[in-house]
Amino acid sequence: MIRQMAMVAMMGVSLMAMGQVAKPVDPLHAWVGLQDADSLAAWTNWHLAEEQRLVAELTAAKGARTAENTLKLYDEAQFHLMIAGNQVNLMFTTHADKAIRDKAQALTPVVSAASVALSLNQEVYHALSAIDPKAQDAATKHYLERQLLEYRLAGVDKDAATRDKVKRLSDEMTQTSLEFSRNIQDDMRKVLVKDKSELEGLPADYIKRHAPAADGTITLTTDSPDYTPVMTYAKSAQLRREMYLEYNQRGYPKNKTVLMHLLELRQEMATTLGFKTWADLATADQMVGSAVGMHKLLNDADAASRVASAREFQMVSEFAAKQGATNLSLSDSAYWNEQYRRSAYDFDSQSVRPYFPYAEVEAGILKTAAALFHLEFRRVENAAVWNASVHAYDVYDLLAGGKPALAGRIYLDMHPREGKDKWFSESGLIPGVRGEQLPEATLICNFPGGDGDPGLMQYSDVVTYFHEFGHMMHEVLGGKQRWAGQSGITTEGDFVEAPSQMLEEFFRDPGLLQSFAKHYQTGEVLPAAMIAKMNLASAFGRGSWVQGQVFYSTYAMEVHDRDPKTVDLDALLKDGYVRFSHYQFVDGNRLYASFTHLTGYSSNYYTYVLDKVIAVDFFAQFDPKNLLEGPTALRYRKAVLEPGSSKPAAELVKDFLGRRENMDALKKWVNEEFEKP
Ligand SMILES: [Zn+2]
Repeated sequence: MIRQMAMVAMMGVSLMAMGQVAKPVDPLHAWVGLQDADSLAAWTNWHLAEEQRLVAELTAAKGARTAENTLKLYDEAQFHLMIAGNQVNLMFTTHADKAIRDKAQALTPVVSAASVALSLNQEVYHALSAIDPKAQDAATKHYLERQLLEYRLAGVDKDAATRDKVKRLSDEMTQTSLEFSRNIQDDMRKVLVKDKSELEGLPADYIKRHAPAADGTITLTTDSPDYTPVMTYAKSAQLRREMYLEYNQRGYPKNKTVLMHLLELRQEMATTLGFKTWADLATADQMVGSAVGMHKLLNDADAASRVASAREFQMVSEFAAKQGATNLSLSDSAYWNEQYRRSAYDFDSQSVRPYFPYAEVEAGILKTAAALFHLEFRRVENAAVWNASVHAYDVYDLLAGGKPALAGRIYLDMHPREGKDKWFSESGLIPGVRGEQLPEATLICNFPGGDGDPGLMQYSDVVTYFHEFGHMMHEVLGGKQRWAGQSGITTEGDFVEAPSQMLEEFFRDPGLLQSFAKHYQTGEVLPAAMIAKMNLASAFGRGSWVQGQVFYSTYAMEVHDRDPKTVDLDALLKDGYVRFSHYQFVDGNRLYASFTHLTGYSSNYYTYVLDKVIAVDFFAQFDPKNLLEGPTALRYRKAVLEPGSSKPAAELVKDFLGRRENMDALKKWVNEEFEKP
């Protein structure tokens, strides 16, 4: 995932102490002088004041509108908003000092409000639309067009009454989404287990954590640390079914009403802005372009994965039948897939952990990225960082001609600590501007290690590391545009996961893995036989995984691509499961009441499907016998990563593939396990 600043509309929050803030010593370096809450506030307010000054200068400019007298000021204003937003988000999610975190939290809505105000500023919109696009270079023309499109999608070009309506709908949508989330948070459910024997199959530490009460009963909750192990390991089909139903009824019935209201608000917003449905509005600035484009993508991905999914189900259900389990339902799926995988591949994911101590993995990933992208990473020991455990590296470009040229800085904040966010994410810190500003980016993760412990990583942790590093390379290598607003990961939202999912694929290469995966005690290199087993076990289930993603995406689309009056949430849900899963539907499943992606992604959950299609298509261009040294990586760097968002994402894809993406590589990817030699 990547983290973007939350655009919560919090209008009417006034900027604090505007105009009374002294310019910080080094305003372009993110946290110089930010060791206390007051300096964070002063630093942030200075950037917000700069933004206001630039917008005022822009709107007051006289004469013909040009890129120099208008777009440049607009882009600089965006630059200040971006670094202020990134900085307060970083401090809020990572700083060990609660006073700084609290101040950052208080500043978040202030920065958001400034962003919202600029995104709705009609004077700025008119000024930008007066620039002659034909007089600009291609990147500038594209930037201008995209900004104007975003303004129109927010209704800024409309009359006052329409803008008032858009504002009212937007505020109400924000409130309704918050209510939806709150109803889920407030509805943690419990399952009472009468006897310890019902927990059979669960790991020993899980059973230990759930000691029986005086009357012998054990209480489980629907929180994921309780829920996921039951679905994966519990032998009792009855317990799995009970947990599954409670979990999939969170938020119900309240959220059925809330969601229907949200769908109606969205539909009204779409028609107000001249679109037929919300799905059309939400995709107008995306790669797929429209609800029709999204529909075609999902149909194609369905066709590419349907056969593999059916075959996987057949293998799992035959295996289960031999052990007396028939008529498998959705609450049995995770358990029997896990049992089948263990038996068929004789692979225990715990067995590879000793080969992935954190420090070796970090070194290995840097080495991989350096070779692939022709870079050098130099550790900066005395860099100003927000916590002593953060590693800073300067990134040098080896292709700049002559000697290595500084290209940016990255910060790795990789281990958990008190007060730090629990997620894994990459985030830009400072957007790059060609010739003026080098890009900086952060990784915020929670991998084991860092406290004297070797930090033995799970297989899935290492994949996550590759994924997030893919975002980071996009951020840094794409950071040399003329405009800050086109730096790094500022492409269409439905393209951003392609470079990160692409880098995940490298993790499976034996040569690459053996270059860094060494036993933390003996130094033994991860054996080739183990890698082969690991790869086969992880390749099983891909068909069902794609079908699952197509199911979620289709549901998100179908509740948004028609008049809400004709939407039956329950009927669409059951129908979707019947179409995309071989496991029987469990009556009483109300998934939609806790499907939070319906508020976040709305109709656009398909993003991960599209980007998986693109990622495996990209990866298929590499020579499997020579992944790192071949010419493809360089071509990829130049065609896909370096341009940032100076071109439409569809063009980046075409520049690299020589055509648009297709389903051939995905078809091969989902069938890989069955086509093993
Ligand atoms: Zn990601």
